[in-house]
Amino acid sequence: MANNPPYKKKTTTTKLNKTADQRKSAMERIVSMARSNNDSRAEGYREKSLKIHPHVCAKCGRAFTQDNLTELTVHHKDHNHDNNPEDGSNWENLCIYCHDNEHSRYTEFLATKKNTLEKEEEPDAATYNPFANLNKLLNK
Ligand SMILES: [Zn+2]
Ligand SMILES: [Zn+2]
Repeated sequence: MANNPPYKKKTTTTKLNKTADQRKSAMERIVSMARSNNDSRAEGYREKSLKIHPHVCAKCGRAFTQDNLTELTVHHKDHNHDNNPEDGSNWENLCIYCHDNEHSRYTEFLATKKNTLEKEEEPDAATYNPFANLNKLLNK
């Protein structure tokens, strides 16, 4: 009862399977990387926008060269990444800092909008006075 060879054997088999799984997932990763490369090539809006618009951040005016062009990103003005008109009207070249800023502002804007909507509903409940009619009756 001290030793249980079949159990030991089973453990070894599990280990081997795990290695095979790891190899398989590495392959899957490579395949999915190749697929996402295809996807970005199909979208290609960054390259298009960089061709249409000057290599300058639309917000802070920082100019970019081939050396640091990777820091110049393409922003979707309406925040809809599926809206990619060929004339580039929905694209804006932004440096990574301004791009980040633009998105946090948009998030803030959405939060404010949500708060405003919530606040608009509140006053009705707050100003609702169940004794309003009673006061009227008393003042009569
Ligand atoms: Zn900028
Ligand atoms: Zn953006």
